[in-house]
Amino acid sequence: MKILSDLPLKPYTTFKIGGPARYFAEIRSSSDLDQALAFAVSKRVELFVLGGGSNVLISDAGLDALVLHPTGAGIEAVEEGASQIAAWAQAAEPWDNLVAYCVERGWWGVENLSHIPGQTGAALVQNIGAYGQQISDVLVSAEAAEIPSGTTQLLLPADCGFAYRSSIFNSSHKGRYLILSVTLRLSRPPRPNLSYPDVHKWFEERGVSQPSLEEIRTAIISIRDLKFPYPQEEKGGNAGSFFKNLVLNQIEYDALVRRFQERFSLQVLHRLQTFRQRASSPDAVRIPSAFLIEACGLKARRMGRALVNEKQPLVLLNDGGATARDVLRLAGHIRRVVFAQTGLEIPIEPELAGFSPTELTEYLDCRP
Ligand SMILES: Cc1cc2nc3c(=O)[nH]c(=O)nc-3n(C[C@H](O)[C@H](O)[C@H](O)COP(=O)(O)OP(=O)(O)OC[C@H]3O[C@@H](n4cnc5c(N)ncnc54)[C@H](O)[C@@H]3O)c2cc1C
Repeated sequence: MKILSDLPLKPYTTFKIGGPARYFAEIRSSSDLDQALAFAVSKRVELFVLGGGSNVLISDAGLDALVLHPTGAGIEAVEEGASQIAAWAQAAEPWDNLVAYCVERGWWGVENLSHIPGQTGAALVQNIGAYGQQISDVLVSAEAAEIPSGTTQLLLPADCGFAYRSSIFNSSHKGRYLILSVTLRLSRPPRPNLSYPDVHKWFEERGVSQPSLEEIRTAIISIRDLKFPYPQEEKGGNAGSFFKNLVLNQIEYDALVRRFQERFSLQVLHRLQTFRQRASSPDAVRIPSAFLIEACGLKARRMGRALVNEKQPLVLLNDGGATARDVLRLAGHIRRVVFAQTGLEIPIEPELAGFSPTELTEYLDCRP
């Protein structure tokens, strides 16, 4: 196994932003991992796992760490039953390959998660979700190497602490595991999930009441492509949603309504009220951050070479040559304007890597 020095990380991210890694190692096997861990101890450097780089913003100064980049890929059906199948995939298998594999075989459960970039191992980290499905709904287990010992553990869903865009891997146990493989349970009997408004509308408009798995995958890809540029080049580079949505309890929601009554048009206030109508409980009203950004007039706002995507304002785009500083300045501006207008702090979704706590406070603090 080769350990490279000062390797530019820009090409390894979908934002196409970021400075070099002090050290970089591709991890194909457990022996690669053991060597990399020993190297990190000898050099006294921290470790950072980088998968497909689609949920990170790396500092312009780069990472003063040994970057572990999983490269082992492969998918297998490990258990086939009359109605359920268990599918196993190695960490570096591109997530969308696994979705395509399941759809081709008529296995239900991940089709709404089509076209999410990144690796399968990383999909657990923020419990990827889209259009009414999330990976935690189908996870059987994950194999993970504990860092720094390298000991392999089998983790069950209950061990992973899954919630909305969160797990132990990006909260309480951040940096403690390298996920090596993932096993999912899929269903042979159809289990279409068309509850999400965009998906429901797509099939209603086409007069399709019982879409096939392939039709659902095609619909999801088409719906996503209309709003989310799938990043391939530097111009248009992004990390998907830059902000998470908020879930408010009744008191917080009522306070927000009062603010909207004072500051926003009736039309915007009515849109806010639709989120309350859709909520399953008055103490769990989901407020899309895209709605707040739009209501505050921040669509298409720009800082340097970074800009807010017009069609889906949760996405911040690299307009060609953007720096991490441009993106953080723009994100900070958005957070401050939304906070001043609504009193809400919108949380950031991607991992911000290689920034000092002072830098992050300077760029992102909302409060005057
Ligand atoms: C266009 C676009 C659309 C997107 N749409 C969605 C969406 O609909 N829903 C959604 O939830 N997300 C979405 N994302 C975000 C992103 O694709 C997912 O979070 C994805 O799972 C990240 O995978 P990755 O391999 O790129 O991870 P990376 O960006 O490389 O890493 C993300 C985090 O996971 C850690 N990590 C990576 N691999 C491992 C591993 N094997 N073991 C332990 N830790 C690891 C990293 O250290 C980092 O903290 C989107 C991103 C883009 C660019």
